Amino acid sequence: MSDLRDLYQEVILDHNRSPRNFGPLEDADLHADGHNPLCGDKLRVAVKVDAGIVSDIRFEGSGCAISQASASLMTEGIKGKTLDDVRTLFDHFHRLVTDQTAPPDDSLGKLTVFAGVRDYPARVKCAILAWHTLLAAVDDNQDPVSTE
Ligand code: ZN
Repeated sequence: MSDLRDLYQEVILDHNRSPRNFGPLEDADLHADGHNPLCGDKLRVAVKVDAGIVSDIRFEGSGCAISQASASLMTEGIKGKTLDDVRTLFDHFHRLVTDQTAPPDDSLGKLTVFAGVRDYPARVKCAILAWHTLLAAVDDNQDPVSTE
């Protein structure tokens, strides 16, 4: 794990230590389960939608620091957005963590801390798991999500 130390910026550590919006969501409108077998990360994302806007979002699960911090930061970034915004942010985040040549993207705010995972392909799946799971929830796809 020592080669990953430079990934673990303070914000990632902080969100792993005290994840935001963690726990079950009563009366969720949408939810999905995601699994990253490569690392063992498991997440459930639950969303409340009010007139096309994400009025509440919470996640549960267990996994490595990057998967937990990514889910935590995602829930902060998504609350109050429209479902269309969610899809746009997914695309931007996907580019951020997979495209070495992606220019800086101001729309992502704090989520840009995950740009560092680009250099660690195995970690990309940890960072993107929450987003794939969120997208499945938004699309009301009940098949479990797997990064494999
Ligand atoms: Zn992981």
